[in-house]
Amino acid sequence: MKYYDKLVFELSQPGRTAFSLPENRFPSAGKLPSALCRGEAPSLPQVSEPDVVRHYTNLSQMNFGVDSGFYPLGSCTMKYNPKINEEVASLPGFAGLHPLMGEKSATGAVKVYEELEKELAEITGMDRFTFAPCAGAHGELTGLMIMRQYHLSRGDSGRTKVIVPDSAHGTNPASAAVCGLEVVQVKSLENGRIDVEALKPLLDSSVAGIMMTNPNTLGLFETQIKTIAELVHGVGGLLYYDGANMNPLMGVVRPGDMGFDIMHLNLHKTFSTPHGGGGPGSGPVGVKAYLAPCLKEIKVSGFQGNFAVMLRALAYLLSLGKQHIREVGQYSTLNANYIKECLKDVYLLPIEGVCKHEFVFDGLINDGAKEGVPGASTLDVAKRLLDYGFHAPTIYFPLLFHQALMIEPTETESKETMDAFISVMRKIAAEAAEDPALLHDAPHNTPITRPDETTAARNPVLIHPQ
Ligand SMILES: *Cc1c(COP(=O)(O)O)cnc(C)c1O
Repeated sequence: MKYYDKLVFELSQPGRTAFSLPENRFPSAGKLPSALCRGEAPSLPQVSEPDVVRHYTNLSQMNFGVDSGFYPLGSCTMKYNPKINEEVASLPGFAGLHPLMGEKSATGAVKVYEELEKELAEITGMDRFTFAPCAGAHGELTGLMIMRQYHLSRGDSGRTKVIVPDSAHGTNPASAAVCGLEVVQVKSLENGRIDVEALKPLLDSSVAGIMMTNPNTLGLFETQIKTIAELVHGVGGLLYYDGANMNPLMGVVRPGDMGFDIMHLNLHKTFSTPHGGGGPGSGPVGVKAYLAPCLKEIKVSGFQGNFAVMLRALAYLLSLGKQHIREVGQYSTLNANYIKECLKDVYLLPIEGVCKHEFVFDGLINDGAKEGVPGASTLDVAKRLLDYGFHAPTIYFPLLFHQALMIEPTETESKETMDAFISVMRKIAAEAAEDPALLHDAPHNTPITRPDETTAARNPVLIHPQ
């Protein structure tokens, strides 16, 4: 145990402080009413300034962030977030706004919403946006409520089903269920795309719509999207687009042109807000003009969402401009394909071909399994990566494969960083082939090794055992 592994309370020494206040020059000033005063002083840690600074600095270094290293967490888009966005978000004129201020006294903020709506509409091909949803999943729920409202507003109350591909992000079926809609799964083909022939028999007048991600969670572009749009619209259903990951498409193609009616974006992923560990997020929902009246009727949060995330998104868009927005898609796609091609001789690539911003391996080709020694799993590879200073990719998702390892480098990484990652991934593959047991115990160099993740989630111990 290092000395800084102690709680700040354990560092406490009676009488030690990190501050000195000037002597009270107004001893005659009235005392606070006793009802407002504590009976006894609060039990706060008594520590010096260096103790406090070292304590929190060391704690911050026990975690992994996109500012500490490469973070190829598929689907989560952990790109580098330009620091200028943080400055914009903390400008006092914005940071000091109160949510109850009238529009007239917050005209600058209103302008930010208008500008951002215009930019996002141009990128997506949608017409109107709401910024109220505070996460991608919250946006999905909002979008589905708009979809339901649209059907009901036309007196069409029999549309109770939502079609969701088996490759979808887990939030899609969850949002549909929360919205009170029945989830019907459509399966994927061997090539990872929606099986259009399997979709056809599911389509009738009970279908409210279909939720799709394109490129889907395997990082593959749905080439049949026009046909799917015609089929679903043909039976009166709507197309919902999960735009959490707009990285590969920005400035190249638009969901609105592919036939989608409603979509959400994850501003915290694609438009550069530091995220992970629960927020803050923003999942604005865009619709085609004919759905704008329904959009106005749906209220999903008290105010206008997480405004600071919108400021970062607008700063990001304006600093890139039209030309460089397009390069986000090109470089994120190039980077993903580069890593895929450099590793596919040692990690199993179940679906060959060009991917978009991310791709999925199905574990190691040679996992080192021998008589009496189990081979190295995807979990082992992920844990071993931490020893070498890289964040692990997303693992065991999507559920289509048993040993899924989902890698998304993003556009902000240099070739040198990716080469370092590739060489470590190859080294781990060699270690697995040689001695898989070494990987079963990884990580060896992190503050903790392998927690029991299920117990940690179900029975969290949130107080320090004294
Ligand atoms: C991240 C993600 C979501 C959910 O977004 P949250 O902000 O975490 O709620 C939905 N769909 C896809 C494809 C995603 O990658």
